[in-house]
Amino acid sequence: MTANPTAFIRRRIGDISAYHVEPYPADVILDANESPYPPPPALAGRLRRIMGEVALNRYPDMNAVALRRAIAKMEGVDEAEILLGNGSDEIISFLIQSTLDPGGWILTPSPTFSMYKHTAYCLNVETAEIPLLDDWSLDVAKTLDEIKNKKPGVIFLASPNNPTANCVSPSALSAIIEAAPGIVVVDEAYVDFADSSVGPLFHERPNVVVLKTLSKAGFAALRLGYMMADKRLVSGVNKTRLPYNINSLTQALATEVVNSWGELLPLFGEIKKERERMFTALSAIPFMEPYPSQANFILAQVKQDAQRVFGALLKSGVRVRWFKESARLGNFFRVTVGSPVENDKLINALNGMS
Ligand code: PMP
Repeated sequence: MTANPTAFIRRRIGDISAYHVEPYPADVILDANESPYPPPPALAGRLRRIMGEVALNRYPDMNAVALRRAIAKMEGVDEAEILLGNGSDEIISFLIQSTLDPGGWILTPSPTFSMYKHTAYCLNVETAEIPLLDDWSLDVAKTLDEIKNKKPGVIFLASPNNPTANCVSPSALSAIIEAAPGIVVVDEAYVDFADSSVGPLFHERPNVVVLKTLSKAGFAALRLGYMMADKRLVSGVNKTRLPYNINSLTQALATEVVNSWGELLPLFGEIKKERERMFTALSAIPFMEPYPSQANFILAQVKQDAQRVFGALLKSGVRVRWFKESARLGNFFRVTVGSPVENDKLINALNGMS
């Protein structure tokens, strides 16, 4: 019998699209919230040497002991409170797999990082989405209502949030943690650019998971994310992890990066300084309305034909993120803070249109 292999794919999966961002050619890439900076020269030299020493014929350390120890030291927590993922994306999947049966619910604000809903969907878990208020703050009353209705096993709160760039307020967070019947994941992917962090909140609130990544700090290529939580929760979630999820190159390089974190702080400072310069420059463009940011990107409303502005930016060699398909954000760009030269190209291109 000849079969159409598409029929082997579950209906639920057949109905969705793979994660895709159109890679329009451009010299200045400001659409993926990456750091514009390579590692500082001294660190880069050490990383090159370490890369040369990795035993490629051997499997990685399946528990990534050295890397977990380095992260635990940097964070001031116990190694047993750390779990690693191939990017924090992978941990999102571990968290849903380990806490929810098919038919269960997660809860997220909207808009937020798309992988929470996507991953839940693939695992036969449903998503309750609570629209953010007009200033992009959480609608706490509606969130508490939905917590009662849906009893979500996981609540994902990105702080700073992608794409709105603001942090969750401590009072909203505290009310949600108090009401949650399951875990509350505070995703701090962008925390290096924010004024505050929840820190090891899980020491007082054992239903809290803090999620972090090296991706925004200049090491997106390594694919290294980590969660911090009560060690009993870590040990449960760890059962869903595949044995060698962190490859040896990433383990070796990320250990050095984490041990050298202090050398990266000036770069985060540069990015924050540039963010404020860009915010001022974008505010001065008559058809752009940027929102304040605690992250390494700025969300801005485009008060003209967004397609035309997006196309003109591409013609000038600048690619930003346009949420073309989104009902609420169809007229918004998310602009990563690049190097001063890159940011000037964006601002000059926009100024040329007004
Ligand atoms: N969380 C948030 C809020 C993000 O924006 C991203 C990346 N876009 C991630 C997690 C995933 O990061 P990674 O898998 O690269 O660690």
